[in-house]
Order: sequence, then structure tokens, then C-alpha cells
Amino acid sequence: MEQSPKNWSIEDAANIYGIRGWGAGYFDLSPKGEVVIRAQGGGHSVSVMDVLSGMRARGIETPVLLRIANLLDSQLTSLNESFRKAIANLSYRGIYQGVFPIKVNQQAQVIEEIARFGARFNHGLEAGSKAELIIALAMIQSTESLIVCNGYKDEEFINLGLHAVKLGYKCFFVIETPSEFDLILKQSAALGVRPLLGIRLKLSTRASGHWQDSGGDYSLFGLSTSQMIDVVDRIKREGMLDCLQLLHYHLGSQIPNIRDIRAAVRETTRFYAEMVKEGARMGYIDLGGGLAVDYDGSQTNFEHSKNYTLDEYCTDVIEVVMEILDEESLAHPTIITESGRALLAYSSILIFDVLDANLFEAGPIPEALPPESPELLRNLWLTRESITKRNIQECYNDAMYYREECREQFKHGDVTLRQRALAENLFIDIIRRVMALIERERIILPELEDLRDLLYDIYYGNFSVFQSLPDSWAINQIFPLMPLHRHLEEPDRRAIFADITCDSDGKIDKFVDLHQDVGKSLPVHSLRNDEEYYIGVFLVGAYQETLGDLHNLLGDTNVVSIHINEDGSFDFVREMEGDSIWDVLSYVEYEPKNLIARFRSNAERAVKESRITAAERRAMLADFEASIKGYTYFER
Ligand SMILES: *Cc1c(COP(=O)(O)O)cnc(C)c1O
Repeated sequence: MEQSPKNWSIEDAANIYGIRGWGAGYFDLSPKGEVVIRAQGGGHSVSVMDVLSGMRARGIETPVLLRIANLLDSQLTSLNESFRKAIANLSYRGIYQGVFPIKVNQQAQVIEEIARFGARFNHGLEAGSKAELIIALAMIQSTESLIVCNGYKDEEFINLGLHAVKLGYKCFFVIETPSEFDLILKQSAALGVRPLLGIRLKLSTRASGHWQDSGGDYSLFGLSTSQMIDVVDRIKREGMLDCLQLLHYHLGSQIPNIRDIRAAVRETTRFYAEMVKEGARMGYIDLGGGLAVDYDGSQTNFEHSKNYTLDEYCTDVIEVVMEILDEESLAHPTIITESGRALLAYSSILIFDVLDANLFEAGPIPEALPPESPELLRNLWLTRESITKRNIQECYNDAMYYREECREQFKHGDVTLRQRALAENLFIDIIRRVMALIERERIILPELEDLRDLLYDIYYGNFSVFQSLPDSWAINQIFPLMPLHRHLEEPDRRAIFADITCDSDGKIDKFVDLHQDVGKSLPVHSLRNDEEYYIGVFLVGAYQETLGDLHNLLGDTNVVSIHINEDGSFDFVREMEGDSIWDVLSYVEYEPKNLIARFRSNAERAVKESRITAAERRAMLADFEASIKGYTYFER
């Protein structure tokens, strides 16, 4: 084992990657320098590297999505316990009942776990489409658990929900548009069921953060105040005020500021009180999602963070609801939240291997400048020779200028290919020397603050951003990412990550960095020839799996689920093979058998034309068929 150098410790590693911030107690570093998972409760921890070697022994290769069942259970328990505690402390006279929004991760195994772990809290499900309602109706067993139906509903959707009510489930239709009530009215009359109704509010409150446009007057969904009165009047006319029991809003996901959460609860509770006065039966306030995850561990109102704890969230919600209803002496309702992100984010880690690196290093530089070199190259050479700690800024400026000019002259044919290559090498070498001087002499030059941002390598990761981290690409979501091992060594390089799609967007170049809002590169270790280098992308359990797409036909990764036992051992609960090339070709409507047949006849033509022998054809066909059945990612 590597000896840790005196000036580098596990503490330093933990600090530069911020793992003790965003890790929320679930992730940490072991004395061996490996990332470990700690399932709450037991003090035991499991090294991700041990899980990886267990996987490899079973023939499961990276990239792989690792799910840790305990962490979902733990988050679900914390949410329910926190509300319970707040309710008890404040003597609130209602209860809390959560529903999990299926859209956050519809994978059967995830929903099964939620149904199983959630049963003891009567944690229900939220459905936003017919397909999701079908999942909810099959997966929820206790009629005490709630089912909340949001989204646009057609006749079939409504019939499904009404069947559920007939079966004894508390299945709410949340009315999102004024016309929806008419359809619900018609279908419930036809089936002879009294529906459970809710109304989705359009609040004037808006939340800062990424989803700020989901709230406010311009939000896509929900009834305006006057539409709400119209719907309530229609419900009244039909004699169905006893059916109207729930108010719902969803301000957006990942709300970083507790003030916005309080404001939305306050406004909603005012609507609630008014509904009671209108004669509606009521009994439920549904606060939607929005409970944030601290992706960067900064505990601030930055969009990738949150400035509140779970206990503060629960206490504030209960406090605000109580305050307003107590003023009017109204009964305390059941509080529902639809937290998805906060429950699921921690439970999955994407693990990939680094295939190669493009180092930011100067290529070979000769002993002397070649005789025919143009003036510009000569200047660049002299700049390199003359760097001292007194003229750093000047040398840097000159290097930038001469390199740019060399590139220009190349375009005009005045600089040759080899001269341009030498110019680029000299430039990199100058930047490296400047940086080394700055660090050695501890020079502070504000103009060169972001010089470090130029000095990164590109590490090629065996994964697809589009398949596995769609939010990183689509909405610039920052996920904490770090090497899974080698933390006894000080990272000696900085890198950004490119995936294997060869799309210029297929990269990760924004990182958790507590010194600036967002880091532009990540400290990493030099690659070794004889050793894999594994990177983990954390907190990817929410939204990433089914939002991902088949860009470049890179398919689903392998998925492995583990359960960590009390004694610190772990079990492989489930393994799911990722998509094969055969699978992804079928998704885009190819008939793989037909492709094989076509390739076979192409090869036959080559035999006829004497380009290859029949034996060569046979070997080629075998390769072709093996490939089509293989993994879509880089295989070793
Ligand atoms: C997406 C969504 C949620 C989940 O929000 P999180 O921020 O992930 O908790 C809840 N309710 C509705 C209506 C949603 O659309």
C-alpha cells in the first residue's frame, strides 16, 4: 500500500472533494483512502471498491449504476420521523402522510422498495399519467396510503382512479384545469362513485432556484383564483362539496431557500381556510415537491444547495399551517408532501472507469529553435527563456498574444504545421512554468486568478452523459463527483471529464467547489498503466434514470443493487444487465436478425470478388454477431 506523504492526509482529501458536506453522513473516506458508504444506524461502512470487486467477480463491468437500498429506506424514514417529531413538538392535531412522485424514478425495483419501506408510514404514491396510476394501483396495498393523481386526465385515467375509490383507496383527483371537473363529474355519475377531489393552486409565491418559473402567475398548471371560484361554484351546484377535500401546489423542484417554502405554505393555508369557509369538507393540504438536496454541501441558498435542514423544513411547514388555522379556529388537516428528489438522490451512484487522458502537457521541444523559424516563434521562444517571478504577468500576456498570432498566420499559410505545433508546445510550457512559479513563490496576481482553469487535462470516462446524467447536460445540474480510491495520494492533476459519445456536449466540466460557486475542473490522480481509475458520480438517484436517452446508441448501464447489513457486510440484492447493442438497435426499429443477414450477404459479395476468403468471412460474421449481443459501452 502507498504511504501517505506527510503533507497529505485523508482529511485533506475529504476537504478538497467536500464529501463530508454533500455526503450527508452517508459517504466518507476510509483510512485506506477509499470512498465508503455508511448506512445510517449501523456504524459500519462498506467500501465502494469492495462492491466493485464483487461486481467484477460476477462479470459485471463498468459503467454501472449502484443502488443502495438502505439509503432510500433511511431517507424515507427520516422524512416521516421528522414530520412526526415536528407534529409532536408543536402539538399539531393532524398527521403527515407523504406520497412519492413516481416520475422521479419509475423503475420497478425502486417503486417496489418505496412501497415496501413506506408501508409502515402509509407513504403513498403520486401519479402524473395513466401509466403511473397503473403502477400505483398495483403497488399500493394498504388503503390507508394515499394516491394523488396530478396531470392531464382523460376518461380512462379518471375511470382508473374511480375504480380505486370503489376499492376503498383514498385516490384523489387533483383538478388542474377548469374543464377537468366536467369529465370527472360525468364519469363518476356513470360509475356511481363519489370522487375525492383536490384543486391545484396557482400561487403568487415564486421560489428562487432553477425552477422558479413553475410558480407564480405564469406557472403552467393550476387554477387561478377566479377559475378556482368557478370550479368551487360548480362543485357546490352539484352538491359535491363533501368531495372537495384537498388543496395542492407544486412550486418546482429543488427549492434552495426556506423563506420561499414558508411563503408558499402560508399562501396555500390561506386558500385552505377560505375553502373551509366556502363549505368544502377539506382535510388535506398537499405541498408538492421541492424539498431540496444539498448537492454541493454548502448549506446555502445557492441553486444546487439548500439553506435548511429536514427538521427545519418540517417544523416550518407545521408551524405556518398551525398559525394561520389557529387564528381562525379551524381544524388541522393532514399534511401531504410529494418529495421525490430528497428521498431518492442519495441512493444511487454512477461508477465509471477512466479509459484514457488527454494531458495538458507540452509535447517535445527541441534544444534550440529551428533556424528557419518565423519571427513570432522566435518571440515565443524568448518569452519562455525570460520568465522570472518579476515579469510573470508580462510573459503570460506575451505568450497568449504570440500563440494567437501564430494560429492566425497558420491560416494564411505563413506558418507550417510543424511550426504551429512547436508554438502550441511552447505556449503550454510557458503556462506550466508560470503556474509553477506562482505556486512556489506564493505570488498573488489577481489577473492570473483563473490561470488554473486553463491547466486541466481531459479524462475520458466510459459512460454517456446523455444516458446517465441527463440533467448535467440539459439543465447544468451539478453532481458531486470524485475518485473512488487513491485518496492517500495527493491528487497531482486537474481534469474535466469527456464521455464516449464524441458529442461536444458529452462532458462534465462543472464541479462542486466551495471556494468558488462552481469549480471548472476537478483534482485527480495521474493514471497508472496497470491500474483502473474509478470515478463515482454521487446523488444521481432522482430523475436521471428514465430521463436519459440513447444518444449515439449508448444504452442503459448495468445496474446493481446492494443492501448493507448491520454487521457491515453487504448483499447483492439484484443485478440487471444493461442494454445490449441488439436492444438499442431494436429501440430504433432495426431488426437485428435482418442486420446480420444483410452483413452476411455483403461479406459474401466480398468473397465473390476475392477480397476475403470464405474462412475470413466466417470469422468476421462471428465477430459481428458477438458485437451485436454485447454491451454498448467500452469493453475490456
Ligand atoms: C416533479 C414533481 C414532484 C417532485 O418534486 P421533488 O422536488 O423531486 O420532490 C412533486 N409533485 C409534482 C406535481 C411534480 O411535478
